[in-house]
Amino acid sequence: MLKAAGNKGTSANGSYQVMGTKKFGSHFGHEGKLGMGELKVGDTVNARVEGPRRQATALNHSATHLLHAALRTVLGDHVTQKGSLVTHERTRFDFSHPQPVTAEELIAIESMVNREIRQNEVVETRVMPIEEAKAAGAMALFGEKYDDEVRVLSMGDFSVELCGGTHVARTGDIGLFKILSEGGVASGVRRIEAVTGEGALEQVVALEATLDQAAALLKTGADSIVSKIEQMTERLKVTEREVDALKMKLATQAGGDLLDDVVDVCGVQCLVASLDGQDPKTLRDTLDRVKNRLSQGVVVLATVRDEKVNLIAGVTDNLTDRVKAGDLIGFVAAQVGGRGGGRADMAQAGGTEPASLPDAMKSVAAWLEEQLS
Ligand SMILES: [Zn+2]
Repeated sequence: MLKAAGNKGTSANGSYQVMGTKKFGSHFGHEGKLGMGELKVGDTVNARVEGPRRQATALNHSATHLLHAALRTVLGDHVTQKGSLVTHERTRFDFSHPQPVTAEELIAIESMVNREIRQNEVVETRVMPIEEAKAAGAMALFGEKYDDEVRVLSMGDFSVELCGGTHVARTGDIGLFKILSEGGVASGVRRIEAVTGEGALEQVVALEATLDQAAALLKTGADSIVSKIEQMTERLKVTEREVDALKMKLATQAGGDLLDDVVDVCGVQCLVASLDGQDPKTLRDTLDRVKNRLSQGVVVLATVRDEKVNLIAGVTDNLTDRVKAGDLIGFVAAQVGGRGGGRADMAQAGGTEPASLPDAMKSVAAWLEEQLS
């Protein structure tokens, strides 16, 4: 029963605006003004709530019936409702389905719902005995308790369901149906979120705005965005390869120069060096190159990036029984506010105190002497 003025009553042949309500014994009656068409005694009238929020909710709710039917048509009869949440902003529908709904299936479902909206079918509610409703093919929730008399909602032949909710008068009132997202909520249960009417239009406008923004950033038209991104991705790949090659070249050069700094500690080659702004991968490459050119020795390399110390230590295989890279890196890292460890021939660490790095690096020779004596 609609009590608020401004709500609407609609039959298949006409509609009226609710101006007020009156009580007739145990029943309420509408006083109204005929809007369009005609109304006769005996006509079945759908009462409609016209508040914008409640109307938006009725749109989303009504579309959910179409969505349910479309899901069963496109995905199969195994689809049953597992949950539903309808607000004035959107509808959320959970249903049984063993795998993600594909992009093609989503398009088919959305198109089917929109086709039913354009069919502009009359939305009818009939009260009938539950057995009759089931015989008419009305979808009921398995295990749900129903009264002997049920309300059967039908939208043409497309959707027939038991429902006591508030609906649109004709499917065309829904206007537009747009799926926002599809995802899994539990094993075998998928969720679709969608918008209708004004909300669906807003969604399309927002998507268009995003496309225009992307096109402007890419300095191209909206229809060339994809090819432009493909071009840019390809160019980025080439550039990354060039940068990698240049870094490798730099590391090789740095490695060559570094060999000049090798000192002798108890008959073992020892190289300790700080390099400028190298990334961890380049540091590792440099270590490998330098170590390969030592006959027997240890290497400790450090670099400072973004106020963080990166350390790496290497020991030639013929020395790992006497000196462990993991121990060495732990000793150095502890002095720069860090911790580290690793294998006997290679170990890495980080630190947070770049200011302590020079002293830490200087201490390596004495530590090595101790290990070897
Ligand atoms: Zn309903």
